[in-house]
Amino acid sequence: MEIKAIRGFNDILPNEIGKWQFVEESAREVFEGFGFSEIRIPIIERTELFSRGIGEATDIVEKEMYTFTDRSGNSLTLRPEATASMARAYLEHQIYSFDPVAKLYCIGPMFRYERPQKGRYRQFYQIDAEVFGVENPMVDAEVIIMLIHFLKRVGLEKLELQINTLGCRDCRPRYREELRKFLATKSFQLCEDCQRRLQTNPLRILDCKVESCQEAIADAPKVIDFIDGECQKHFDKVKAYLEMAGLSYILNPRMVRGLDYYTRTAFEVVSYQLGSQNAVTGGGRYDNLFQEIGGLDVPGIGFAIGMERLISLLPKEKEFIRYPHLFIAALGEEAYREAYRLVNQLHLEGIRAELDYEAKSLKSQMRRADKLKVQYVLILGEEEMKRGKAALRNMTDKFQEEILINNLLETLKSKIVFD
Ligand code: AMP
Repeated sequence: MEIKAIRGFNDILPNEIGKWQFVEESAREVFEGFGFSEIRIPIIERTELFSRGIGEATDIVEKEMYTFTDRSGNSLTLRPEATASMARAYLEHQIYSFDPVAKLYCIGPMFRYERPQKGRYRQFYQIDAEVFGVENPMVDAEVIIMLIHFLKRVGLEKLELQINTLGCRDCRPRYREELRKFLATKSFQLCEDCQRRLQTNPLRILDCKVESCQEAIADAPKVIDFIDGECQKHFDKVKAYLEMAGLSYILNPRMVRGLDYYTRTAFEVVSYQLGSQNAVTGGGRYDNLFQEIGGLDVPGIGFAIGMERLISLLPKEKEFIRYPHLFIAALGEEAYREAYRLVNQLHLEGIRAELDYEAKSLKSQMRRADKLKVQYVLILGEEEMKRGKAALRNMTDKFQEEILINNLLETLKSKIVFD
């Protein structure tokens, strides 16, 4: 039987990779311009990092983790997100001892056992950016400004920034209790998952996409009416800094984030070009995460962009594939030797040159050049070579000219733009 990839796990093929590279390169450029440094963390961690960090009563920990026991009996998990690992690395390597403020980003695959559908996979890629060690709302606005700048930079349009506050450890329990009481009166309307969430994590019900649950929460109390003075002040400042930067936002009092560790500022960027899985990115502040995993009290804020969703939104007209610059069509043994010598020379110069390995007819070589969408074809024919000449054909306008073969490399460089 033919072996296929696992459901929800995708290959990213050569004809798609240009978009991925473009997005990754843009992220590196933008983020590093904002003072962020890359960090690479392991794909596998101890399970308790996620169960303690993300929270036991979250969908991720309850039913989406790829957890297994290794040969020594340790419970390990394929990372479902990057923030907890980045926080662990910050503590483990005492990055704070150099400077308590760390601005970090990380690009890589995450793993969640979710039901695969369009825009939802079991292995998917995220670009994460986090700032550790700053409580000031300036930094909340700063990461949002960087995020929007990046999304625009890669060409996304029709984006909507939604923000909310989730309160803190002091004020949220009161809200959670009010919400639970309110939803208990509507429990007959709630889906099976939300019936359970009512006991374990009522805030998550606000996030449920099931229609009857959406109806049940229509008049639910809002967290903004329960937050304490400090949280209110923090939120007001975040909004003021966003306004100062000229960013418009929508207040979405129903927005909660899937993970337990979020406090205060929460945000999402949604795109109306996407269907039901319309969130391109989500993030927020998590001032309790560090205490959950390591005992130090370090505030944090950050976001994770889903790369598959982002890539599906890139402008259609932009060209991401790097086609060969030049195809060398050779006829006859001597011409072939010259073609091979030249192709190697061009590769050393970083010029994307191809030739035919099978010594086929000129017609079939031209067909292949056409299929490869090359910009130019250099035709080396036996007769022409005897005269010290070759033909250079521009495949866009079909203009063909004779060129001299001595000093061929320099001649090609003067005629072709090798971008
Ligand atoms: P989260 O870590 O759940 O806040 O997700 C952050 C972003 O990652 C989302 O906005 C999505 O763009 C993306 N994402 C989350 N889960 C998946 C998934 N299963 N498949 C593809 N993208 C995902």
